[in-house]
Amino acid sequence: MHETSVATPLPAHERHVRELRAAREIAHAFLTARGPEEVYRLALERVAPVVGAAFGCVYLRESDDVLRLVAAWNWPAEFRPFLGEMRVRVGLGPTGIAVAEHRFVEVYDVFADTALADWWDAARELGFASTVALPVVLDGRPEGALTFYFRQTEQLDEGDRSLLRLVADQLSATAEKAHLIEDLQRANLRLREQNVELEARFREAEEARRLKNEFLANVSHELRTPLTAILGFTYLLREQHGGPLTAEQSASVEKVEAAAMALMHLIDDLLSMANLQLGRLDVKPETCDAVALARAAMSGLPAPSPEVVVRTLAPDAAVPVRTDPSQVVRILRNLVGNAYKFTASGSVTIRVRISSGSPWTPEARAGGDARHAVVWEVEDTGIGIAEADMEAIFDPFRQVDGSATRRYGGTGMGLSLSRQLARRLGGDISVRSKPGVGSTFVLALPAGFAPVLMS
Ligand code: ADP
Repeated sequence: MHETSVATPLPAHERHVRELRAAREIAHAFLTARGPEEVYRLALERVAPVVGAAFGCVYLRESDDVLRLVAAWNWPAEFRPFLGEMRVRVGLGPTGIAVAEHRFVEVYDVFADTALADWWDAARELGFASTVALPVVLDGRPEGALTFYFRQTEQLDEGDRSLLRLVADQLSATAEKAHLIEDLQRANLRLREQNVELEARFREAEEARRLKNEFLANVSHELRTPLTAILGFTYLLREQHGGPLTAEQSASVEKVEAAAMALMHLIDDLLSMANLQLGRLDVKPETCDAVALARAAMSGLPAPSPEVVVRTLAPDAAVPVRTDPSQVVRILRNLVGNAYKFTASGSVTIRVRISSGSPWTPEARAGGDARHAVVWEVEDTGIGIAEADMEAIFDPFRQVDGSATRRYGGTGMGLSLSRQLARRLGGDISVRSKPGVGSTFVLALPAGFAPVLMS
């Protein structure tokens, strides 16, 4: 039932031109393909007419030993509904052999080859008499085949063969690229989804942070009210408004008052820290004297060890600075308090000077008068700080010795809060130190107020 035809061979140069033209057209078509399926469809569509095939298809591995039809061209209409279910075993038939043996398989006459007897019925029904199968190689491994079917026992000429080989190679390379692009697109999509999730988590974390600060601010505020009452009544007791006290009672009242004061400072620090984080810390600038601010800070502190000499070095004239005095006093109280705490003997020196340098942040410089700075230096001859701890001490709740058996009290909040306040006022705090020799903490603020809004 099949006819035999022997094509009149084309002259060599014409074959060559035809081959080149077809190859160029196919290469161009591949370039515009949007995914592996389109590459397979184009290969079939463009190549079949050139080599005179009646119909064709592409099979890809579904598993190690089974190939599944993934693209088809011009199949007889009655078979089209079943294309999706078509499977071929690796190693069986022309397509299976092309994959198993990684080679071009050409069957000139299906009915002449008894090894293909199992295919005869199918060949008759589909109406083909010869076939060629070319392996599709992905990542160096034959992963499928491009198979064409011919109505007649078609003898392919050398030109057809080399064109088919060229197409199979190009198809493999393009399909590999298309698969890679598809993988990349899938990975991209996954990344985008992960990004969306991360952003949502980040927002949740931000919200949790805001709620924590809100909570801290509220609790601190609520704690202040009863503490103010305790301090008020201890003051009345100490001043003996309710009647005379014995010496012992007076000493006890003083201890209660000192403890309540310490608690009040702690709560104030917590409140400020939370408000700073919430961007709510009010700054009330005034023109004041930098030397007077240093003295005010020192006057509120308990005396240092008797072995420590305290010195203040400042110009005779006032050093005017426009800033929030209560915050500056707070910062200096922290710095001088630390110097007292960590110095057993020697000296603590507080220096006030005007500097023409610009030790603060670029934001501050952009925001206000940065022509000169007012600098407070607190120098001690205490235990000093190791180079490795120099930045960490500015982290909230961080202490060089954070152990339960540590010698020095404190919460680790002072320096972090002080630095944040200094930055809020447009300046900064820096430190120089040598273990066993001593430390110098330097607070520098713009002489003209240059606040920085912190997020
Ligand atoms: P606190 O003093 O409450 O522990 P700070 O934030 O004020 O918290 O200080 C953090 C840490 O920095 C201190 O625990 C200490 O280890 C170190 N430190 C601060 N000031 C000095 C200083 N003048 N000399 C030596 N170490 C210091």
